[in-house]
Amino acid sequence: MQQLAYHRAASEDAALALAAAHPDAAFIAGGTDLLQLFKQGPAAPTQLIDISRLPFDRIEPQPHTLRIGALARLADVARHPEVRRRHPALAEAIEASASPQVRNLATVGGNLLQRTRCPYFRSPDLPCNKRDPGTGCAARTGENRMHAIFGTSLHCAATHPSDLAVALLALDASVHVHGYETARVVPIAELYRLPGDTPQRDSALAAGELIVAVEVPTGARRSCYLKMRDRASFEFAVVSVAVTLQIEDGVIHSARLAAGGVGTVPWRLLASERALAGNRAEPAAFEAAAAHAADGAEPLSHNGFKIELLHRTVKRALELAR
Ligand code: SF4
Repeated sequence: MQQLAYHRAASEDAALALAAAHPDAAFIAGGTDLLQLFKQGPAAPTQLIDISRLPFDRIEPQPHTLRIGALARLADVARHPEVRRRHPALAEAIEASASPQVRNLATVGGNLLQRTRCPYFRSPDLPCNKRDPGTGCAARTGENRMHAIFGTSLHCAATHPSDLAVALLALDASVHVHGYETARVVPIAELYRLPGDTPQRDSALAAGELIVAVEVPTGARRSCYLKMRDRASFEFAVVSVAVTLQIEDGVIHSARLAAGGVGTVPWRLLASERALAGNRAEPAAFEAAAAHAADGAEPLSHNGFKIELLHRTVKRALELAR
């Protein structure tokens, strides 16, 4: 049995110093994904740094932004009145995630850094470049109905799993990241890495870096999150779409669209956004935008249906956000 050292961090400085001293350490807070990864094999740190007592759980509405601590529980974020008033897509994305029990425990930071649900990744006996680099990708020739149609490489086609990250991309959010004696702000659009030939690395975070907060700009925007899944609860997205719209006098001044369940990272639908800007917020514009949603898609053997499903989900999400 592998030995595991447990440290309860009394302060942020202590947590970051421990992480700097132990490059294979893992931070743990809610533990809803990490404990599964221990049991299933993909995670095997020798040091566990418990950050659950650190003071990063506040939700702080500012005049121009909403700052959400990385240790805020998903359920608390979804029910917060300012989240619901300013950013309905955020509350809707969280409420479409996991189960009420998991949302009571899971944190914002942990949700953003959860790992893929590709079944091969979580099956230690099968080849998987993300889990064991160089072993191959079982999904390429196996079952790949749930896999990505954007951002894939020959080495990996696993979808990014977080609903919250998709909503945050549409909302143009950033994350505040602290390391040992470092601090930086990373746009959500730059937080995740395409698999390329190093699919084992999911994010742009360096070893020992910690997300401490998410910052969401506030504007007069309408938003919504729409998720298509195989069952109505406790299921990951087959296709999801987050939309933010800025509409004045019936005309769309700006639009941001992001999709989940289709990309190896949360996927921005830039062609659809371009098709909307400057047009009236009416069904013809929504149809034109939806027609471009899958531009550049490269489906695998079992997931070509996601192209039509994405088209329809974009159209419906725009109608709901209007
Ligand atoms: Fe592993 Fe990625 Fe292939 Fe899934 S898609 S088996 S995570 S390499």
